[in-house]
Order: sequence, then structure tokens, then C-alpha cells
Amino acid sequence: MRGTTDFIDKKREKPKELDPVKRIENWGEYQKPFPKEKLNTQASRCMECGTPFCQMGTLIGRQTSGCPLYNLIPEWNTLVYEGKWKEAYQRLLLTNNFPEFTSRACPAPCEGSCTAGLVSEPVTIKNIEKAIIDKAFDKGWVKPRIPLKRTGLKVAVVGSGPAGLTASDDLNQLGHSVTVFEKEDRFGGLLMYGIPNMKIEKKYVQRRVDLLQKEGIEFRANVEIGKDISLEDLQQEFDAVLLCIGAEKQRDMDIEGRHLHGIYPAMEYLKASTKHFLNNQSNTEPSISAKGKKVIVIGGGDTGADCVATAIRQGCKSVVQFGKHGELPKERTDDQPWPLNPSLFTLDYAYEESFKVFGEDPRKYYIQTTKFLGDDQNNVTGLETALFNESSSNQNQCWEADLVLIAIGFEGVQESYTTGIQTKNGRIETLPNKFQTNEENIFAAGDAKRGASLIVWAMQEGKKAAKEIDRYILRKAIESQQPSA
Ligand SMILES: Cc1cc2nc3c(=O)[nH]c(=O)nc-3n(C[C@H](O)[C@H](O)[C@H](O)COP(=O)(O)OP(=O)(O)OC[C@H]3O[C@@H](n4cnc5c(N)ncnc54)[C@H](O)[C@@H]3O)c2cc1C
Ligand code: SF4
Repeated sequence: MRGTTDFIDKKREKPKELDPVKRIENWGEYQKPFPKEKLNTQASRCMECGTPFCQMGTLIGRQTSGCPLYNLIPEWNTLVYEGKWKEAYQRLLLTNNFPEFTSRACPAPCEGSCTAGLVSEPVTIKNIEKAIIDKAFDKGWVKPRIPLKRTGLKVAVVGSGPAGLTASDDLNQLGHSVTVFEKEDRFGGLLMYGIPNMKIEKKYVQRRVDLLQKEGIEFRANVEIGKDISLEDLQQEFDAVLLCIGAEKQRDMDIEGRHLHGIYPAMEYLKASTKHFLNNQSNTEPSISAKGKKVIVIGGGDTGADCVATAIRQGCKSVVQFGKHGELPKERTDDQPWPLNPSLFTLDYAYEESFKVFGEDPRKYYIQTTKFLGDDQNNVTGLETALFNESSSNQNQCWEADLVLIAIGFEGVQESYTTGIQTKNGRIETLPNKFQTNEENIFAAGDAKRGASLIVWAMQEGKKAAKEIDRYILRKAIESQQPSA
């Protein structure tokens, strides 16, 4: 029996990670396996709260609290504690199409809202989720689920990121015929060409796409909607179209010297690195490489951190990351009370690696880049910055750099893909809770609709949009069969 105070008596424990010096030698995931008995202990820390805040999935202010997929966390924690792994997997599947992605890269807002965190430390929810889905694949429980009946209705999904894949999965299971159009050569959106391999190994993304294909979804790569096929043609051919095209337009810096060689948007760099890795070109350098270079990453967010970790693996000479804001607090502050998922200072994987390799945290705070510097060949050689904080302003500094990566966020959808579709501030506008655009049979979900966000929110939107599309196409089909008055 688990004790009623296990969440206090037993300490929170996560799997060990490979030593940073070792793990930067390759692109593999770096979490070590966690013994079964330890998982059992961690699962026993869940109190099965009557009102589980961990699964509420909502925004409080701009902060996510609880799981946006409404995962039935206390239920699968209990099943894991009882050793009923298959049942835990079945319970997880009720709400989460792809736990292998969320359990690897989700920032786990569920844990910030866990009640155990009020008096002790939160349950290691994300890690238990990972153990369930990894076991399910190992044991062969994850099998293609081929729909028994087809409705004869067709849906086109544009974009194969987490939003597009989730919607496709649900629509296919409802019996509709789904075709996914992707402009890249591989499927997965930012799961494939964005989030680096050490956070989500690409073989897991491909494994899921293969499974969805076996279940009947048609995947078409290297097809750019708006260029190779028009949106109007899709509207004609399909009963509904869902745009899950992400928020790909990156914010840039309109300052002196931006034209210099050696300055790249972060996504161009990360994509080139993953393509090089996946195409097995280890005897060559990627088209953009940090090898032997002094790297500066502009932008203090997660994309910037992924650039730092990638540059370290490529063998950079040094790496620095600029943030416009100050260091985050180390503990929950009064303005981030429970059950808000707090924004706290953490030694993310990239920073831990930088510490080990270069002896310091690469993050520099309150820094604004004012100018890029170059040589007479038009190569970047450094940049000038100003320092902004409460005590000082405009303290200028020069930094040496021969590779600069801009990771200052995303402006939204590429306008050329949304001709005729209403957008506002880079987001596709939809009817409240309907996911329907100004064109009746065109829907939108994920980053394209809500702005750059998280995998788990993209998946939630994919699920909800699928439900709305199902309603819409079934209603239309019934209407078309009724005799006109
Ligand atoms: C570097 C980086 C790291 C991140 N790390 C994390 C993380 O650790 N955890 C987390 O939760 N979130 C993370 N995110 C955010 C997360 O990846 C996104 O919120 C999520 O992928 C959005 O899903 P989506 O399906 O809406 O769009 P996307 O994943 O962006 O997919 C959109 C897809 O549409 C395709 N497409 C676009 N236009 C067309 C067209 N005209 N025709 C055909 N195809 C088209 C694109 O090629 C792309 O494949 C990260 C983001 C970045 C940039
Ligand atoms: S998907 Fe994210 S928020 Fe939901 S249970 Fe898993 S780790 Fe927590």
C-alpha cells in the first residue's frame, strides 16, 4: 500500500543523465534508464488528489498551468504504482496521441501545478509518462489501429508538425481519409527540423509517421501548398482543409551590418545541423558549422539554448548567449503562486554542457545588440552591444564572433501561404472554439493559429480542430443528401 504521506517521506528523484563531456561527443539522447523500483517509488508519491490541478490544462495570465492535453495523470500514476503498465498505457492513450514526444520535450507545466509541490516537491510526472510509452513500444503494445469503416469524406492537412499529426490521427480514426502535405523532405515539423536530436531522437518521429501511414494516412513530402498546389485546388478536392503550417516567419534584426556573411537565423542553422546528421554526412561539415568558431547566439530563449548545445557538439571555440531580460528567480516568487507553473532559473542541458566545456554559463543578461562588425571581405567579426538594467544604461561593449545566430522569436505565419485567409498579428484568425477560418471549409490549428508555443498546445489544438472538422464535414454530407425544399 502506498502511504498517505509518501509525497513527503519519499524524495523526488529523476533518472541520471550522461556526463555532459561524454554526451556532447554525439547527438543521442542523454537520459539514463531509470530502474523499475525507483519508478514505483516515484509513482507512489502521487496523492491521487480529488481535484487534480496537474491535469487542468489552462492559461493563467500567460502561464500554462496543468497539462493542456488533460492527461489523466493521477490515474496512470496509480496504475504504474500497482505495476499495471498496459492499463497505464491505455489510460495515457485516451488523451495523448504521441506521449513519446511530450514525455521527451514538454516543459511539464503539469509538475508546476502538482499539489505535492505545495508542501514538498512535485511528482516526476513527465518521467513516468516517458516510462509508460517507452515500455509500450518495447513490449509491442503500440500497434497500427486501422479504422474498420471509412466515411468516404476527405481531409487535407497542411503541415506535419505536432498539430497536423494529432489532427490527422484523430480524423483517420474517425474513418475519414486524410492526406498530409509537407513542404520539407521529412515529416514532423519542428519535431524533425527544429528540436535537436538530443532532445527528441528523429527515429522516434519517423517511427510514429510510419505507424500513422500503416493506419491509412497518406503522407506527401516536398509539396508546398501555395506554390506546388494552390489552397483553392485543395478546397475543391477535399471536404475540408486544415492549416497547421506553424509560425515559421522569424524575427530579424534591422541593424547596421546585418548583411555580413556568418549571420544566420537560428532555424536555418538548426535545420542544417539535423539534415547533416540525418543524411549521414559525418565525413563532411554541415552547410552552416560552428566548428572552431566563436559563436554568439542572440536571444535568451529555448531556441537559443538549442543553438548553444548544437554549437558545442560541432566543436565551437567559444559560445555566448545574449538575453534582453535578467536572470530568472531560483524559487517561486509571490507573483507566481501555486498552481501557476513558475518561470524559474534552471541549468538547462545546454548550459550544463557549456559549464563543463568552457567553465562558465554562456548566458549574458540585459544585452541589446546595436551593430554587427565585419572585415573588408564582408565576413562578420563581432558585434557591439548596449547593457540595459536597473542600475546602468547604455554601457557599450564589443564582442568577437565569426558565427552569429539570431534566435529572437517568431513573427507568425508566412503570408504567402495564407492568401485569402484572414490573419491578425501573424496568426490565422478563426471563429472562437471552432478553428474555422473566414473560408468555411478551411480550418487552422497549432502555432499558425495561436503563435509560437509548445508541442503540447499544438497537440491540444490538433485534437480540438479534428473534432470541429468531423462535425462540419458530417453535417455537410447529411445536408447534401437531403432533398431541397
Ligand atoms: C528550436 C525549437 C525548439 C523547441 N523546443 C521545444 C520543446 O523542447 N518543447 C516544446 O514543447 N516545444 C518546443 N518548441 C515549440 C514547438 O516545436 C512548436 O510549438 C510546435 O512544433 C508547433 O507545432 P505545429 O504543428 O503548430 O507547427 P510546426 O511544428 O512548426 O510544423 C509546421 C509544419 O508545416 C509545414 N509547412 C508550413 N507551410 C507549409 C506549406 N505551405 N505547405 C506544406 N507544408 C508547410 C512546415 O514545413 C512544418 O513541417 C520548440 C521550437 C523551436 C523553434
Ligand atoms: S504532456 Fe506535458 S504537461 Fe501533459 S502530462 Fe506530459 S509532461 Fe505533463
